[in-house]
Amino acid sequence: MKTIGLLGGMSWESTAQYYRLLNEFTRDRLGGLHSAKCVLYSVDFAEIEQLQATGQWQAAGEMLADAARSVEAGGADLLLICTNTMHKVAEQVAGAVGIPLLHLGDATAEAVLAAGVRRVGLLGTAFTMEQDFYRERLAGHGLDVIVPDAAGRELVHRVIYQELCVGVVREESREAYRKVIAELVAAGAEGVILGCTEIELLVGAEDSSVPVFPTTRIHAAAAVEAAL
Ligand code: GLU
Repeated sequence: MKTIGLLGGMSWESTAQYYRLLNEFTRDRLGGLHSAKCVLYSVDFAEIEQLQATGQWQAAGEMLADAARSVEAGGADLLLICTNTMHKVAEQVAGAVGIPLLHLGDATAEAVLAAGVRRVGLLGTAFTMEQDFYRERLAGHGLDVIVPDAAGRELVHRVIYQELCVGVVREESREAYRKVIAELVAAGAEGVILGCTEIELLVGAEDSSVPVFPTTRIHAAAAVEAAL
């Protein structure tokens, strides 16, 4: 079994899910007392969020590149960045280490295509929904990506940072997300990517009339496949 390296803490609410899922998937595959071999570097998310909010992506990339070197030195054989948003600096991070980066966008695109979906809605932070780094990665796999309107994007982003990243799950926000998902479906989405690692703490398949693609679960499953 290979050792899975994790860059986490963005936020730790979703990294805790990663840790649980990696171990559950490994147990399901190998049985008995088997669990995932992991090395986790968990950052202080307040420092990262400050750099995001002020557009200091190069500095954020350097911080994560340093963390990735520590993860590699700790014995990891492959690397996960446990957030969709910080894949904006994926190249910088991957370039800092010799171990392979398992890109969240690639794992997600493969899951979407395997489900026979081509036109897909994307929920995530404003960075993920509005900038090119993530949508173009998905489009590179042949997906047609649509995002909510400006009001929907603002709502989805706000709930991530003000609620989900600090462990708050509100029924009103679940209802609001359901409406945004329904609007994406009305706009032609055949599936919806939960493209922020905290979103699956709030909504799931039961909140959507089309298949949803939860990125934490997809990424963790791909990591276990790569590790075994
Ligand atoms: N975990 C979130 C994501 O998957 C947002 C937090 C962050 O900005 O890293 O994008």
